[in-house]
This record gives sequence, structure tokens and C-alpha cells, in this order.
Amino acid sequence: MNFPDFIKRDFSLRSFNTFGIDETASLYMEVKTVDDLMQIYRHASLMKVPRLIVGGGSNLLLTGHFDGLALRMAMKGMHIEREDKEYVYVSAAAGEKWHDLVSWTLKSGLGGLENLSWIPGTVGAAPVQNIGAYGAELKDCFFSLKAFDFEKGILIELGKADCRFAYRSSVFKNALRNRVAIVEVTFALPKSWKPNITYAEVEREVKRRGITGPTPEEISEIIVEIRQRKLPDPAVLGNAGSFFKNPAITAERLSELKINYPGMPAYIQTDGRYRIAAGWLIDQCGWKGRRMGNAGVCETQALVLVNHGRASGADIATLAKAIEKEVFDRFAIRLEPEPVFV
Ligand SMILES: Cc1cc2nc3c(=O)[nH]c(=O)nc-3n(C[C@H](O)[C@H](O)[C@H](O)COP(=O)(O)OP(=O)(O)OC[C@H]3O[C@@H](n4cnc5c(N)ncnc54)[C@H](O)[C@@H]3O)c2cc1C
Repeated sequence: MNFPDFIKRDFSLRSFNTFGIDETASLYMEVKTVDDLMQIYRHASLMKVPRLIVGGGSNLLLTGHFDGLALRMAMKGMHIEREDKEYVYVSAAAGEKWHDLVSWTLKSGLGGLENLSWIPGTVGAAPVQNIGAYGAELKDCFFSLKAFDFEKGILIELGKADCRFAYRSSVFKNALRNRVAIVEVTFALPKSWKPNITYAEVEREVKRRGITGPTPEEISEIIVEIRQRKLPDPAVLGNAGSFFKNPAITAERLSELKINYPGMPAYIQTDGRYRIAAGWLIDQCGWKGRRMGNAGVCETQALVLVNHGRASGADIATLAKAIEKEVFDRFAIRLEPEPVFV
């Protein structure tokens, strides 16, 4: 097939996935503007091949060569859109680093995103799995987004309900996966900000520092400090953060499990079910620090799978399957991976 000159061939995605997996894409393009996306739409040859949208690659597991077009979202820009009595509306382009946006809002005197500090990746990918951490989720401050629809060749605007946000999920991980490229996200940041220190570790640290009324910056600083201490740096040890979602079970099932496992950590949800810490289940099966060749489980954090150097995506996937099986055999609970497998 003939492809336009602005498309790169057999492009290594190694520096565009935080597992550091050395796989290639047949075709590659860096996307800096909506016009770049329009160009793809206009080329029939490019519209025929499978598409992979890539941000920072911090939630991707490349399990082999990608025989299609990888589009790396590199659009830049952040600005205050408008304000009303209750909110300041801030918009950021898909290719901005997520934490740069958090820092920029804090420097602009706006709270709301601080609990999501230091999450790797881009702004455009943040709605895809409704990023969450330390008692907050992206949907709490989300207002709307603009996305390029490859089926229609137009920009569309989606509000909160359209995005069908759920725990580590959204319409972009399901029906709209790779059909749309998110180009800009708008957040509604509250003028009457209140701290969210419901997460025990954050609350403890606020008390330990003798802070009575924490500011958004102070909460951000505490969370960055906790995250840097707890999670391996992908630049040093390839990983994609938490590899499994925390599974949800019914209250009845939890009572049964508590007979044999009284220490099992469980958190009630709004639907009455309980979320179980997947890391605890994996740790109970003795996986923390174990290796299968070059793929392994982090020594300090059982929920994080790591690349010890030359692991392939298939090695990581095999390790994940082995963990899923042992957890199921012991607890009859199914673990579901959080990263997107390609
Ligand atoms: C050390 C570490 C810690 C982490 N901690 C957390 C955490 O606390 N909470 C959390 O929720 N996640 C966490 N993650 C996972 C990850 O950082 C987030 O999911 C992040 O939002 C992924 O962003 P990305 O740009 O790297 O996306 P990528 O990995 O590049 O892509 C992820 C998915 O989004 C799609 N996508 C990317 N950009 C776009 C776009 N512009 N439009 C449409 N689709 C797109 C991709 O096709 C893919 O399906 C962590 C990861 C690491 C490595």
C-alpha cells in the first residue's frame, strides 16, 4: 500500500511505553494539531489500517509488533477558558503531561486536581481510564472534552454523562476505543475548594506535619512524596503502575472470605459491594518480589509488575496470567488487568 511521506515506517515504540518494551509499529505519526488528524482521515490507505492512539504509554502493554498506525498525541497548550459563580474552567491539550497540568492549576491558585498529582501520562489519556488515586477520580472535576471522530472526520464534544465514567473505565476504553482521539479536556475547578483527605495515609501525613487547614499545594506535596516513596520510577524499572484493578465482591462473599482471612482489606462502594485490595491478594499468594525470567513483581508493591530489563510484553502477560490463576484458585476472585493490551 502507498502511504503519505509524513508517515514513519517500522517505528520503535520503546521510548513510548513505560514498561520499556521494544516493539515496533508498522506506521507512526506524531500528532500536533487537529489538521494532522484530518490529514489521516483524508488518506484512504491510512483509514484502512488498525489504529493505536498513544499518549505517554504508561498504561499500555505491547505484546507484539503493532501492524497498523500508531498516533502519538503531542498537542500542547493550557488555558483558563472562563469562569462562573462556582467554577473556573480550565482546558488542556491532549499531549500535555498530566502532572504539568496539575502543577499549573496549583500555581494559578486553583484546587481540585491535587489528589491526582504525579500520575504519569498525558491529559488526553486521563479520561480513558478515569484516572484515580488517593480518594479522588478524574470525573470529580471533569467538565467536557473535544475529540476527533475518525468515523465522521469531525471534532465532537462530550460531556460527563457521554463519557460513562466508572472505576478505571470509560466509553474510551470500550465503544469508542481508537475510534476517537481526545484532543482537549476541560475541567471545572471549584471556587469554594475543600480538602479531600479521606485517604488514611494522606490524613496521617497531614497530622504528622502539624497542618490544620491544608492547602491544595500542601496536599499535592504530600501525595507526590508518598508516591515517590511507594512506586518504582519507570525510568529506572519499567512498569505501568498498578497492573490489576481492585476487584469488587458482594457483602455475602466478603463475610465468607473473612472467616479464613480476617485481615482482608475491603472498602465499601456506593453500590453496596466491597472493593478488595488486589495487591493484598497477590501478596497472600507469595508473589511479591518473585520473578519469571525478566518479568517480575515489584519487591515493595505486589500490585506493580516490572520489566527487569529484557522482558517482552508476552513475558509480562504470562506472569500476569500466572498471578490471576493463583489468586483465583485461592480466593475464587478474578483479577482484571488495568493496562490496555496491544
Ligand atoms: C508509576 C505509575 C503510576 C501510575 N499511577 C496511576 C494512578 O495512581 N492512577 C491511575 O489511574 N493510573 C495510574 N497509572 C497508569 C497511567 O499513568 C494512567 O492510566 C495514564 O492516564 C495513562 O496515560 P498515558 O498518556 O500514558 O496513556 P497511554 O498508556 O499512552 O494510553 C492508555 C490508553 O489510552 C488511549 N489513549 C491515550 N491517549 C489518548 C487520546 N488522546 N485519545 C484517545 N485515547 C487515548 C490509548 O490508546 C490506550 O488505550 C500509573 C502508571 C505508572 C507507570
